[in-house]
Amino acid sequence: MRLILLGAPGAGKGTQAVNLSKRLNIPHISTGDIFRANEGTELGRKVKQIIDQGMLVPDDLTVSIVKDRLKKDDCKNGFLLDGFPRTIPQAVQLDEVLREMGAELDAVINLNVPDEVIVRRMAGRRVCKGCGMSYHIVSNPPKSEGLCDVCGEELKIRDDDKEQTVLERLKAYYEKTEPLVEYYEKKGLLLHFDGTKDITETTEEIMDKLLKE
Ligand code: ADP
Ligand code: AMP
Repeated sequence: MRLILLGAPGAGKGTQAVNLSKRLNIPHISTGDIFRANEGTELGRKVKQIIDQGMLVPDDLTVSIVKDRLKKDDCKNGFLLDGFPRTIPQAVQLDEVLREMGAELDAVINLNVPDEVIVRRMAGRRVCKGCGMSYHIVSNPPKSEGLCDVCGEELKIRDDDKEQTVLERLKAYYEKTEPLVEYYEKKGLLLHFDGTKDITETTEEIMDKLLKE
């Protein structure tokens, strides 16, 4: 399956992506994770400045990174895009890339979560320094405090999860990303989900709907 996960920052895209990627056996491609994994490079340092201000990385750079990733062998049978596209020009360029590959999207999963819940989620988010796995100190804690369940590394607070940056990111979401809901609705690809439910309940709802499509 070729899928996109859409939703505000903190809606739970990364959390659902980990579950769905395992269940559907498709790679999880997160542009945010790719940018963070390059923090040691010149490009990574430039991008981090943008990210830490709560702004979006330029479209051309982001699209070229995704284009290279989609050419890899493991994407032949599908992929799950998390946090991409985030603007209409990115979505238009993704359509073009998929056309060149002779591929089509199967569905766009939209996670709906109100702003006040988003702000609470980002305030308690902790991510693994090693594998990037996302936790929450109250709603989704690790088994051992401060340590990742998957790889045992230490957890940390993301630099862009400061309250002021979160508000900037929400602004960027409403200005640039929310129009994608209509874009994909018009294409008949959008599936809506209530992202405030329990993590596993949401995964089950998504799986049920995808398998019925
Ligand atoms: P995104 O990838 O959309 O930015 P994350 O998957 O990192 O969001 O989730 C944001 C925060 O909310 C994390 O702390 C995560 O553990 C928590 N979270 C995700 N889904 C849920 C949920 N359904 N209920 C409660 N907390 C959740
Ligand atoms: P995320 O991990 O999805 O929350 O992304 C973290 C940050 O990376 C975002 O706030 C943006 O600054 C940047 N980013 C991730 N994906 C994109 C994208 N598709 N377009 C532009 N910027 C992005």
